[in-house]
Amino acid sequence: MPATAAMVANDDPTAAQLAALAEQLSGRGLTRLAVTWVNHAGATLVKVVPATALTAVTRRGVGFSPVSDAFRSDGAIDPEHRLARPDGDLRLVADPASVSPLEPASGWAWAAGMRRYRDGRSYEADQRCFCQRLESRLAADGVSLQAGFELEWMVLGGHDGLQPAVAGGPYGADRLMEALDYATALTEALDAAGLAWEQLHPEYGQGQFELSLAPGSPLQAADRLVLARLLIQRVSRRFGWRCSFSPKPFAEQVGNGGHLHLSVRRHGQPLLEGGEGPGGLGREGTALLAVLLRHLPALLPLACNSAVSYRRLAPGTWSAPFQAWGIENREAALRLIPAEADGASAHLELKVADLSANPYLLLGAVMAVLAEAPADVQESTAWPALPEPVVGDPARSGEAAPPRLPATLAEASQAFAASTLLRRALGDPLHASLIDSQQAEIRRAEGLGDEALLAASRWWPIVGGL
Ligand code: GLU
Ligand code: MG
Repeated sequence: MPATAAMVANDDPTAAQLAALAEQLSGRGLTRLAVTWVNHAGATLVKVVPATALTAVTRRGVGFSPVSDAFRSDGAIDPEHRLARPDGDLRLVADPASVSPLEPASGWAWAAGMRRYRDGRSYEADQRCFCQRLESRLAADGVSLQAGFELEWMVLGGHDGLQPAVAGGPYGADRLMEALDYATALTEALDAAGLAWEQLHPEYGQGQFELSLAPGSPLQAADRLVLARLLIQRVSRRFGWRCSFSPKPFAEQVGNGGHLHLSVRRHGQPLLEGGEGPGGLGREGTALLAVLLRHLPALLPLACNSAVSYRRLAPGTWSAPFQAWGIENREAALRLIPAEADGASAHLELKVADLSANPYLLLGAVMAVLAEAPADVQESTAWPALPEPVVGDPARSGEAAPPRLPATLAEASQAFAASTLLRRALGDPLHASLIDSQQAEIRRAEGLGDEALLAASRWWPIVGGL
């Protein structure tokens, strides 16, 4: 029952299909089903049902108050948020196609949920519905995306809980040896959950690790990120440590990214390779990159959703804070990885993203932007306009340096608010309530000095601190 393979049709599974799935769960001793969704603040919320309630939870769902999207990143409810109301109820409905083991040895299964109204209509401000809608919209034009996230996190412990839990240097085999039991437990947990992963390594920062998840459809990629985070948290706790996915846990250390890799095809043909442009881009690939690059400032609060995200975005830390693209350049927000580099299809890395992002919103918004690229560029005689790829360190390019992306959440939120493209794609209820959430996060950070903001955000995604 891997998270990668749809067990039943996404849209309308028959009673027989659901019964077969329930039987499969029970055959594997999976008796509890955790249904999660990710709110505007990027936190994963959950309700648990007995696995025997599978049909009910995929059809009628379980109650969830819309106020949960007014939660700030620390769990407090912002009174000025339009959803900070006690009334109304939604149903969290599990997507049967996403059902997978969570921790099978202890009888836990997992499913991604989406919120609907009681009468079955989709809730306009639901993040996963938005992602699904955009996936279908692109599919109608013959366009499909493969996406995959890389997660970075730090494991911390020691006398004050703030020390790197394992010793060892950047990318160090010494750190792997220090943490081999942890790496074993983590990869076992991923395998047991059927979560396909491609790479694991000690990252540059102290006690920092990185996991690359296998690519899948946008919905699968977002679902896998959610599940992977839960498993990393679970395994870290089993070792008596805590993991921090905060974009910037410590001022003097590099941050944690949540980079998003994307490849794009139209009618099965890869669009980011095989052309005559720089990096092997063809006309359509060039147009896709151009449109993404142009809309990056507006996308930024969806990629970097917390106030502390912007403390990470400093030049020289490979957090890619420039509105630029580059071929294999790790300071460019958009990094093109040509086909020959790793044997995979050519793909783009949205390197600026971090794990405070709601992955469904980020992927949905990226698809909305890609859908704006003109599809008829093949017939046109002019090559689509795209700035030159950055070469070298943009921070040292003097006058020729590309523009910096917004340096604060307030600035990024303004670009998001002004984007008619995103407002149209998200729809007013989602767009406007996201602006409220961004403003709530800005207010939370107001008056906190640098160190206080880092400390108040350090335990993300353990909402509310410790
Ligand atoms: N830790 C860096 C970041 O904040 C990324 C390092 C890398 O994988 O290139 O995104
Ligand atoms: Mg990395």
